[in-house]
Amino acid sequence: MSLFESPLYKDSLKLLEDAGSVMGLDPNILERLKYPKRALQVAVPIRLDDGTVKTFQGYRVQHNMTLGPGKGGIRFHPKVDLSETAALAMLMTFKCALVGLPLGGAKGGICVDPNELSRQELQSLTRRYTTEINMIVGPSIDIPAPDIGTDGQTMAWFMDTYSQLKGYTVPGVVTGKPITIGGSLGRAEATGKGVAYCVNFAAEKLGMKVGKGMTVAIHGFGKVGIPAAQDLRDQGCTIVAVSDVSGAIYSKDGIDVDKAVEWVNQRKFLKDLPGVELISNEDLLALDVDVLIPAAIDGVLTKKNADNVKAKIIAEGANGPLTKDAIDIITAKGSFLIPDILCNAGGVIVSYFEWVQGLQNFFWGLDEINAKLHSILKDAFDNVYECSLEYKVDMKKAAFIRAFRRLERAMRLRGLFPS
Ligand code: NAD
Repeated sequence: MSLFESPLYKDSLKLLEDAGSVMGLDPNILERLKYPKRALQVAVPIRLDDGTVKTFQGYRVQHNMTLGPGKGGIRFHPKVDLSETAALAMLMTFKCALVGLPLGGAKGGICVDPNELSRQELQSLTRRYTTEINMIVGPSIDIPAPDIGTDGQTMAWFMDTYSQLKGYTVPGVVTGKPITIGGSLGRAEATGKGVAYCVNFAAEKLGMKVGKGMTVAIHGFGKVGIPAAQDLRDQGCTIVAVSDVSGAIYSKDGIDVDKAVEWVNQRKFLKDLPGVELISNEDLLALDVDVLIPAAIDGVLTKKNADNVKAKIIAEGANGPLTKDAIDIITAKGSFLIPDILCNAGGVIVSYFEWVQGLQNFFWGLDEINAKLHSILKDAFDNVYECSLEYKVDMKKAAFIRAFRRLERAMRLRGLFPS
């Protein structure tokens, strides 16, 4: 697939052009932001448990590094390709700029279904992939993190492989590591917690109360969806439905979130959890709830199903879960959209904290981390909201405009090399 072919890349370009035109973005800056700075495609051959060799396709894309080293997750998923990875890297550039981090945008991944590999095969895959991309990552170059299908264990293997190649331990090469080997308190739940903070900020603007009586549906019950569910449940909300690739579960009186987490930890998938109604992912998206959190994958709400959405607040926990058409439909209906580059920025913010702590070998307490996370997200949310009023645009465009303002200043100051 060529760079521009994926729906997510096309949509991201369109959003870039639209928001750029509303704010009068310098056309020379716009021209540079349309393309990733660097894209590496690698073959990742591994020996499977049955003795045969299988080769997977891997990628690492760095979109823009004006503000600092590249930052972005590593995804293990069958849909991973160059174009989608490049689009996700672009969104990381805008996300880091929006929330004021000294980081650029990157993304990586392997086209693989991790559920079909054993633990040993996954370790081989991660170590070989690390070896193949090691020349373009590092604490001052590009710092990966977990994304769909990867976790703290993946980051531990990545860090260990990179450190073996260097000959000394390099904790700052990845974030999202387990605490024992230099991870940060609060990182695992940071993205979901950030989503919950943003739901609170949005509710405040809309005069809604987060707590008893507020209903929530969450599409995607992974590293983002689970902590978001736990946080909003702890605030008194009723989590009426959650879902994963196997389908969705529904209970009018509320899902027992802890029981669902335990079930998934033991059996991988939500389906067959007793005591709840099994519905489809499509049904979940159309539930009459106060808050809908698409926290699985991109492109789940499109022009085909966006009109079915009834939620008052849509919090984009995933990257690009709504296509551009879906955003237009939903905002025209009056729903309040919390855009991905704001809503799920909690992960990269605490990743940034982890990187800083690792470079200093000095670790912070959880209260300090959560307070700093809250303060950064609150400022970013208020700035985006004000920008949406100033330009009379939806929150998605406003978030892009805010990000572009910072990038434009930085890119102009640094200039174009060679001049
Ligand atoms: P994950 O692998 O931990 O969980 C993904 C969940 O989505 C799983 O429950 C999976 O079964 C479900 N899912 C996957 N494909 C699906 C489909 N087609 N239909 C329904 N459900 C599906 O991944 P994650 O880390 O929670 O990431 C989810 C999204 O959030 C991604 O878009 C990712 O880029 C974004 N994100 C993640 C982080 C992070 O810190 N993990 C940070 C920012 C953004």
